[in-house]
Amino acid sequence: MTTTEAITPPKVQDQKMLIDGKWVDAVAKQTFQTINPATGDVICRIAEGDKADVDLAVKAARKALESKPWRNMAPAERGRLLYKLADLIEKNARELAALETLDNGKPIRDSLTSDVPSTAAIFRYFAGWADKIHGKVLPVAGPFHTYTRHEPVGVCGQIIPWNFPMLMLAHKWAPALACGCTSVLKPAEQTPLSALRIAELALEAGFPEGVVNVVPGFGETAGAALASHPDVDKVAFTGSTAVGKLILKAAAETNLKRVTLELGGKSPNIIFADADVDAAAKFAYFGCFFNMGQCCCAGTRLFVEDAIHDQVVEAIAQRAKKTKIGDPFDHSTAQGPQVSKEQFDRILGYIDAGKSEGAQCLTGGKRVDRPGFFVEPTIFDNVRDDMKIAREEIFGPVLSVLRFKDLDEVIDRGNKTMYGLAAAVWTRDIAKAHRVAAGLRAGTVWINCYNVFDPSAPFGGFKMSGIGRELGEYALNSYTEVKTVVTAIG
Ligand code: NAP
Ligand code: MG
Repeated sequence: MTTTEAITPPKVQDQKMLIDGKWVDAVAKQTFQTINPATGDVICRIAEGDKADVDLAVKAARKALESKPWRNMAPAERGRLLYKLADLIEKNARELAALETLDNGKPIRDSLTSDVPSTAAIFRYFAGWADKIHGKVLPVAGPFHTYTRHEPVGVCGQIIPWNFPMLMLAHKWAPALACGCTSVLKPAEQTPLSALRIAELALEAGFPEGVVNVVPGFGETAGAALASHPDVDKVAFTGSTAVGKLILKAAAETNLKRVTLELGGKSPNIIFADADVDAAAKFAYFGCFFNMGQCCCAGTRLFVEDAIHDQVVEAIAQRAKKTKIGDPFDHSTAQGPQVSKEQFDRILGYIDAGKSEGAQCLTGGKRVDRPGFFVEPTIFDNVRDDMKIAREEIFGPVLSVLRFKDLDEVIDRGNKTMYGLAAAVWTRDIAKAHRVAAGLRAGTVWINCYNVFDPSAPFGGFKMSGIGRELGEYALNSYTEVKTVVTAIG
């Protein structure tokens, strides 16, 4: 298989939801449509879950959690099922990539070379953990044998966004299943298709019925029902900070379910004058504009040291002008549409705000004249820290360039945000790089690189970018409860 072999937009049937191993309609028989953002056309209709469907799914997940096939399954066998699911994802890579591109609008070359392989890799990584999750024997005082058990946290409600639909599913399902939990997943209303297909593959892999359930629907109904469900033990959410607060509140007001949140960002990317300027400019562009700027860790505040400002700005502006925008199914396309009309309008609103606050629009600044929700890659220069475009998450192809003079100043300004998800620093001075890395309040700091992820590397936010970490060994903490067992032996 070569990755440049033509892939055409697949024909997709109307979709049901997965509850207790069966494909069912919504209790209320409601459906909603999912849209192809490259054209604005309806792809198909999807069963629309609401509270009643969430109740059924949670009941199924509870039953599966406590039933023998899952509870008594050897941990290594859980791992084997996860490996099998990873294999099935790879086997169906082209179909999954096509579904993701159709539903989300991301270029097919990204779906094929990034989303699908990363999804499989995350399942494989956590497959390996399944039989390596264990407690400790503790050196307590007195005649007691004391040990800990790491038990599954239980039924997990998992709510995911539309920017990396299948990858976010893997962030949620892989650690939960490795730890022996069960899941009710609500995909984003804009992009339910890949989750439904991967759920089908999970059944094919052999996960017992009810271990994974998928309830598509809207946040205010299905999502809220999960967050406030008294029989959900843990909720994992990725999305906006505003909704993250609602999730935490719902958990507090019901059963104090465990909550992990992966929220927004306004990440600083800092280029010092002693950096490899060509590489820094290349990755400054990639760090902001990858996935149409729809990345929680996008490097949207580009701090450039005065001496190299003009050189960096010129290089990234050239990249913006050369970016091929268009049909996401064309292998040479680098930038597709934004995910929805709502996001598209929101981004254009931010671009107007940038112009009216006096930032200098160097490239782009408007929609692309074609059907679908395409926005030109937009670079603003002479941005001040207090401008709206420098403070708020835009989640679109919009970069703010800010100048700086010295190290302490840039650390201070980099941290002047409510967010703390990611950051990057570019310099050839290793001491300077680590000083900045230590000074920035962010969950990930990249030095002389950007957007480098690995299933073994934890990801998550400081401050209002979230609570907890996904990926890596750290993710296991979010899906286990620690039990202390004390036996008198004296
Ligand atoms: P969002 O509303 O936070 O959506 C994320 C997920 O939460 C979706 O599945 C959504 O359902 C669900 N949801 C919405 N309201 C909910 C509620 N009251 N209770 C439970 N779940 C709820 O994000 P959005 O509206 O799609 O995008 C708005 C902004 O959020 C973006 O512009 C961006 O700034 C940020 N965002 C961040 C990330 C990230 O990766 N950190 C991802 C996406 C968006 P629906 O499908 O019905 O919306
Ligand atoms: Mg869609």
